[in-house]
Amino acid sequence: MTDFELIRSKRRSLELRVLEDGTVQVRAPQRAPLRMVRDFVDSRRQWIADQQQRQATRPRQRWQDGEVLAWRGESLQMDVCEGRTRVVVSGPYLSVRVAEPDNELTVRTAVEGWMRRQAKPVFEDSIARQFDWFETAGFARPTLRIKKMRTRWGSLSARGYINLNIALLHYPPAALDYVVMHELCHLKHMDHGPGFHALMDARMPDWRQRKAVLEQPLFQP
Ligand SMILES: [Zn+2]
Repeated sequence: MTDFELIRSKRRSLELRVLEDGTVQVRAPQRAPLRMVRDFVDSRRQWIADQQQRQATRPRQRWQDGEVLAWRGESLQMDVCEGRTRVVVSGPYLSVRVAEPDNELTVRTAVEGWMRRQAKPVFEDSIARQFDWFETAGFARPTLRIKKMRTRWGSLSARGYINLNIALLHYPPAALDYVVMHELCHLKHMDHGPGFHALMDARMPDWRQRKAVLEQPLFQP
């Protein structure tokens, strides 16, 4: 019998998730009988085991002195020492000063804070460089929102927001530009139909190669 965490919500169907630490989560409709949920989990036992195996063997980012951080298509080696919190790029190194250099959570918090500060100007620049054509075509410039997302690189909301995944900072600038162009093309075509692809081909002929870069997982941030 597999242990699981049950989350009841206003949904109509059952959904199964295996989290990074191997925990099994089931989302179920408010009134679904517990027995039915259990049977469902039991029927997916093999799938759960496969997912747990995958999670356990997936390479993870370590937050320690000497570890490498993928940064905009390059590698920065983390140089962690004790001091007042400060993170700066120095040649091929990311110099990280924190109160507790041996505490991975402390290092991670400092580096992620630094990443968030870098994200806004970098993402705004990508939008600015690619927006001209859309502006001429009469579209309003969407407002940037930076998010941590598990399953997507970006999205464009009908309310005028362009949402970009902060993890794009780990990939080369060309890949970031691809995601931004993809979302901008949704200003004209909300779906991924032939019109959308024709516009992508016209605006960014090599978008497929750029997209392929994002399909190689770097690590689990
Ligand atoms: Zn899309």
